[in-house]
Amino acid sequence: MAAAAGKPIVRAHGIHKHFGPLHVLRGVDLEVAERELVFVIGPSGSGKSTLLRCLNRLEEPSGGRIEVDGIDMLDRKTDINRARQRIGMVFQSFNLYPHMTALGNVALALRKVLGLPRGEAGARARAALDRVHLADRAGHYPGQLSGGQQQRVAIARAIALEPRVMLFDEPTSALDPELVGGVLQVMRELRESGMTMVVVSHEMGFARAAADRVVFMDHGLVVEEGPPEAVFGAPREERTRAFIRQID
Ligand code: ADP
Ligand code: MG
Repeated sequence: MAAAAGKPIVRAHGIHKHFGPLHVLRGVDLEVAERELVFVIGPSGSGKSTLLRCLNRLEEPSGGRIEVDGIDMLDRKTDINRARQRIGMVFQSFNLYPHMTALGNVALALRKVLGLPRGEAGARARAALDRVHLADRAGHYPGQLSGGQQQRVAIARAIALEPRVMLFDEPTSALDPELVGGVLQVMRELRESGMTMVVVSHEMGFARAAADRVVFMDHGLVVEEGPPEAVFGAPREERTRAFIRQID
């Protein structure tokens, strides 16, 4: 596995997902080690988002096994709300409450999810905003922030809960090009701080610089995986080659 081969945090095996007649995931295996950054690529519709959503059970897999940080995510006895606290997720859309400040958005998650009292939630929210370099924007409303800043607030909201793994689903796809760099920089710093991350994205430069492993998906299966140099530089599979030619 990767350079940072800690113990596995995510172990997903044989994941299937059907949407009615659509067989969207067809037996996906994905293991992610502690402190590893796994970068997932693949054509639109190949099942990347569905896979991420299955990992924290925003979607119910039709079959397979998923363990996150030693917790069986598919066991009926698992308290799924508690289990989800270990998994941070950042989407293409930031989903901030427009009537609450940046600080308010982050603190609300801490109060609702962890049940922290107002003062403690506020202090931790400030620290999280500091980590995404938005301490000076704490009192701003989403409408007063750029898209990139809003996405960084969304990242702060997720990391404030101190997850064991962070899932990113195309975090920069909705951003104007000049705002992408700031978000990627925050993600790079998060990676350097030792966070375990699974990132679905088209930012190949970021993958080359920051990913331990690249996973290429097509039609609901992992077709190829390896270090970024290998997958981008010398892909083994024709489908991988065709995809990389297209995006590079
Ligand atoms: P990707 O993120 O790789 O673009 P998705 O995981 O979003 O792919 O989608 C994989 C396939 O599953 C697509 O054909 C998509 O239309 C279908 N799909 C995703 N979510 C649903 C849903 N809630 N209901 C029905 N079909 C879905
Ligand atoms: Mg998607």
